[in-house]
Amino acid sequence: MRKLELHWQILIGMVAGVLFGFGMTYIEWGPSFVQDWINPFGTIFVKLLKLIAIPLILASLVKGISDLKDISKFRNIGLRTIVIYICTTVIAITIGLLLVNAIKPGNGISEETIAKLTETYSNDRGVTDKLAEASKQKDSGPLQFLEDMVPDNAFNALADNSLMLQVIFVTIFLGISMLLIGEKRAKPLKDFFDSLNDVVLKMVDLIMLTAPIAVFALLANVVVSSGDPDILLALLKYSGVVILGLMLMILFYSLVVGTFSRYNPWTFLKKMFPAQLLAFSTSSSAATLPVTMERVEEHIGVDKEISSFVLPVGATINMDGTSLYQAVAAVFIAEALKFDLTLANQLTIVLTALLASIGSAAVPGAGMVMLVIVLESIGFPPDKLAIGLALIFAVDRPLDMLRTVVNVTGDATVAMMVAKSTGSVIKPKVKNWDDNLEEVE
Ligand code: ASP
Repeated sequence: MRKLELHWQILIGMVAGVLFGFGMTYIEWGPSFVQDWINPFGTIFVKLLKLIAIPLILASLVKGISDLKDISKFRNIGLRTIVIYICTTVIAITIGLLLVNAIKPGNGISEETIAKLTETYSNDRGVTDKLAEASKQKDSGPLQFLEDMVPDNAFNALADNSLMLQVIFVTIFLGISMLLIGEKRAKPLKDFFDSLNDVVLKMVDLIMLTAPIAVFALLANVVVSSGDPDILLALLKYSGVVILGLMLMILFYSLVVGTFSRYNPWTFLKKMFPAQLLAFSTSSSAATLPVTMERVEEHIGVDKEISSFVLPVGATINMDGTSLYQAVAAVFIAEALKFDLTLANQLTIVLTALLASIGSAAVPGAGMVMLVIVLESIGFPPDKLAIGLALIFAVDRPLDMLRTVVNVTGDATVAMMVAKSTGSVIKPKVKNWDDNLEEVE
């Protein structure tokens, strides 16, 4: 019998996890059983993916740069990547703002619901933690992000997942210096990184073999930890606007891939499907990064010199789904709490949501922290911030799962655009997840 393809296995794991989670909510000890005995398997999986993210960026970006024949090509790739990332994010925010202004989900929410949400969530740890984190993030100068990108200790940077831009900086510096000392002298180091790259990609394959079980655990835990169904229902119109916007973004990517990169959009989505499922289950672009890279390089066939730069940078700074959500959420909260927004306010949202999505970490819930900064930029009263976040907190996790899918798909789309625009050929070199597995077994 032919073995079921991995993405189907993952999908089955997800559905089973949701059903199991629902079942467990009816048993008194069910939720704590899931949290104590099931969820750890999901957490271990996410940790395994994160653990290989930095070695993968290091190996594949050094390989990508040191394979370049001409260093100016790199400048070209860098510039295009940043410009395209900014454009797609502005498009995402604009779609979000147009939808939320047309549908106005904030007007339909009753005073009772607002009171109930405020009472349930405004003092919740989840909300207060996010406010505290946001207040740490502001108060920095305009060039702080440049300063933060340069580490004063390369090994510290490599030892911290949240310092992804520093890792990219160190790696580019290393790769370019390798190019400059010439092929012969750089060969031992290059061979080392080439081999490391193959090994890490194989680690991704091995980790992915456990994905069906891991997503089962992750989703069962999401279900048992989610809020009261009545509250979720009250926020249906708001969630609907975010989801509609996210779907339009996927449509937009398909159009771009079809017209600009001349690649069948359906094939593109099919090849990205395992990465999307993982983004959905983990809510983290950073944890999904190794799989995104594997799909884009091996299955879609984007050159490593492009994907190894565009994708890690994208996971950190390009979050179209997050910025769309921030725009919708900011206007929704303002409307619901009767805070009038002028056109200037809406334009400010475009700018701050762009910066906020660059500044958001690629981990679950990060988008909500930066939402505080977006709200503050439009003069939203600070004493009402907790109430504002309380309004949307109940549905944040499911929306986070969906926006992370868009974040990851957006990064892959831009990788294809940059590949096409710099004349790289897109040619798949598929290796299966379980290649060589029999030998290992
Ligand atoms: N979870 C998102 C990501 O990792 C960030 C966010 O929107 O909260 O891409």
